[in-house]
Amino acid sequence: MVRTTCPYCGVGCGIVATPDGHGGAEIAADKDHPANRGRLCSKGAALGETLSLEDRLLHPEIDGRRVSWETALDTVADGFRDVIAEHGPDAVAFYVSGQLLTEDYYAANKLIKGFLGTANIDTNSRLCMASSVAGHKRAFGSDTVPGLYEDFELADLVVLVGSNLAWCHPVLFQRLEAAKRARPEMNVVVIDPRRTDTCEIADLHLALRPGSDVALFNGLLAELHRRGVTATKYVEQHTAGLDEALMAARASDLESCGLPAADVATFVEWFARAEKTVTLYSQGVNQSSAGVDKVNAIINCHLLTGRIGRPGMGPFSITGQPNAMGGREVGALSNTLAAHMDFALEDVDRVGRFWQSPGMAKRPGLKAVELFDAVKSGRIKAVWIMATNPVASLPDAGAVRAALQACELSVVSEAVRATDTVDACRIRLPALAWAEKNGTVTNSERGISRQRPFLPAPGVARPDWWIVAEVARRLGFSEAFAWNGVADIFREHAALSAFENDGRRDFDIGAHAGIDDAGYDKLAPFAWPARVGMANGGRFFADGGFYHGDRRARFIAASPRAPMHAPSAERPLSLNTGRFRDQWHTMTRTGKSVRLAGHRPEPLIELHPDDASARGLGNGDIAEVTSAWGRAALRVHLTDSLRAGDAFAPMHWTAQVSRAGAINAAVNPAVDPISGQPELKHTPVEIRRLDMRWHGTILARRPVMLPEITYWARAKGAGYYAYLLAGEQPLGAARQALAAAMCATNPGPWLNGEQGVGAVISDGRLEAVLVLGTAHDERARDRFAPFMAMGRLSVEDRNVLLHGGDAADRGGEICACFGVSTAAVTAAIGKGATSLAALGAVTRAGTNCGSCRPELRALLRALRQSEAA
Ligand code: SF4
Repeated sequence: MVRTTCPYCGVGCGIVATPDGHGGAEIAADKDHPANRGRLCSKGAALGETLSLEDRLLHPEIDGRRVSWETALDTVADGFRDVIAEHGPDAVAFYVSGQLLTEDYYAANKLIKGFLGTANIDTNSRLCMASSVAGHKRAFGSDTVPGLYEDFELADLVVLVGSNLAWCHPVLFQRLEAAKRARPEMNVVVIDPRRTDTCEIADLHLALRPGSDVALFNGLLAELHRRGVTATKYVEQHTAGLDEALMAARASDLESCGLPAADVATFVEWFARAEKTVTLYSQGVNQSSAGVDKVNAIINCHLLTGRIGRPGMGPFSITGQPNAMGGREVGALSNTLAAHMDFALEDVDRVGRFWQSPGMAKRPGLKAVELFDAVKSGRIKAVWIMATNPVASLPDAGAVRAALQACELSVVSEAVRATDTVDACRIRLPALAWAEKNGTVTNSERGISRQRPFLPAPGVARPDWWIVAEVARRLGFSEAFAWNGVADIFREHAALSAFENDGRRDFDIGAHAGIDDAGYDKLAPFAWPARVGMANGGRFFADGGFYHGDRRARFIAASPRAPMHAPSAERPLSLNTGRFRDQWHTMTRTGKSVRLAGHRPEPLIELHPDDASARGLGNGDIAEVTSAWGRAALRVHLTDSLRAGDAFAPMHWTAQVSRAGAINAAVNPAVDPISGQPELKHTPVEIRRLDMRWHGTILARRPVMLPEITYWARAKGAGYYAYLLAGEQPLGAARQALAAAMCATNPGPWLNGEQGVGAVISDGRLEAVLVLGTAHDERARDRFAPFMAMGRLSVEDRNVLLHGGDAADRGGEICACFGVSTAAVTAAIGKGATSLAALGAVTRAGTNCGSCRPELRALLRALRQSEAA
């Protein structure tokens, strides 16, 4: 039994893994971990299904050929050395990831900033919370999250801004849900253009116009001040800049938010009244060309009221990734240095002396989007990507792919063989995956936890820090990278955090600088600061003590700004992108889980019914989403949870699992001018119906090399792959081509059935089945799946299969843990199970991880509404 942490979101839940001795493990929640206290969401609970070595990169490769580690490392080191010698240090770059452990992150940052002499290292956390970092620094003088998770439970008012907490940080949502159940008088306000599942526990939903957050919080600031809610003493003693902020706030137009005046009044009233107020914000705030101003507009309201750093109150930025905070600590953003230091002369000098660096980087490097622009223009000639998939996740993703393919030296360290980025890079270095990694991560409340290995390293895969250190050694920096293990790196990181600190920097874990190997192995979760001789953790700023030179916080005068690219007659819709409940990032891990594939098996474009009917679109159609940057083809899903004029698409699908479902190909590369964070929540697009002549479904035991067709998406089934298809060529020709492709990898005689069914049945067992028709058949997968689970088919089974499959209509999956379908839940409601508890007792839905509870609630609510109508 090994205690470790979940590799997905920034909640940072503790996990207990029990290896089964055959390469797998049983996964359970850690009851003692302070982040989750025994809870896990659907993604965390399904981690045991993601451990197989299928799709792993297990050996170094150069230009597609397997090579030894010696050859690969020599080639990387020689390549970087040659580029630097010829073009200077700014011609090389690293692009790293919030999936790296802190020790890996530390090693990469030290090599490039301390020894290669450039700060051209950025992290995919730039896409997630760079605006919060910049907003914190403007307000506090440091990148500090002032509060703790328990503040949500202690608050009287919780304001969630741009956060679908129920899907993106589910365990924190469950904690909030439980607190509200225990104290129903607690108010929850959701501020989000979409009515997400998070709204199921909201007392008030403000569906503001996308991008109008600054106007709303400016209006709130002005009104709080007018009502005399200002914490006068706190403001006088610990802040500066209120007058300018108020002037900007008063000039803002609240009506631009497009909200009912009564709802705004309720929000202001609740905020004015509730001393214990927490405002949590996430990507809906950060991923904007005005993200930093949005963050500061929120923080302004907490500074004005002095509601910061005390139990149950404060602004709270929640990170998307498991170790985004660790990356901030080691300085893996291109505009920061290690240990929460910057590029001020004294910081560069201090870090240089600590590292005994021969040539520190002296100025900030390029941020993610501009870094890949520089690769594209040839200014950067060698790039090393670690544990991330920018070809799928960066905006204008097609340009990133082209840039990498044209780059002189493209290197990727990865655990997964099949990603869009691995395909585009010349040198591929096999890294360890979650279950094999050793180190620490930091969650959104500054909690540092150990991630411990519980499976052996496969093939010749190695830890990321080791790969970096080996390249550093070959470049002549052996002494500075002579670590014997991760504990050595952690001690060095902790020592640097305390080096010449004296309370001038918030990040200090110096109390752990002398930890021995055994102590590191059994290190229990702790929150920073952990200064020598002082208690760990706690909150910041209750009594001021900010990190600007005068120790005062700054109010920031923020004026509302429209998104950089406005919708036009040609592209009138605003595309928002984000996450689905059961998938994570680019699906390299969650895509391996059968139970996580049931909830949303395809990439969807969500549209308001008014916008759909204006375009002749219906549920299940295939639509093309086009922007000035690119296109995607997705399945249409109509919902009135969006404002008319808005559209939403998930960011998970890639070229590995879909024909054209990678939405970032269409997303605009505009960034916030301060943080450099891309505007992933707004791209002007047009959406049009693609006239499909046929729709189809394939279930096959082995992958099928599909012919060129307009739309396909692949999902994992139990012992098979499911392909959902649609095409523009004549149905007969498509049928022939698909049958040939299926038989190529799933050999056996082809049998034609009725109602568009065809199947490969070999030795009495179903190897693959196809159903094609002129209309989208949403239930086809459910009808044929039972036959894939059978051994030899009886004559009767075979007849049922070839006549269209099982008649059962499951209606899509709602509960991933127990595979409970929407149809089963609806039937249970029909039979009188009209509460969450009753539904759980009858169907088991919602009784394990709880991730589906908001959707169960929505079904119950819909039922009540239809009964009342
Ligand atoms: Fe993992 Fe879910 Fe916890 Fe996030 S909330 S850390 S995804 S178990």
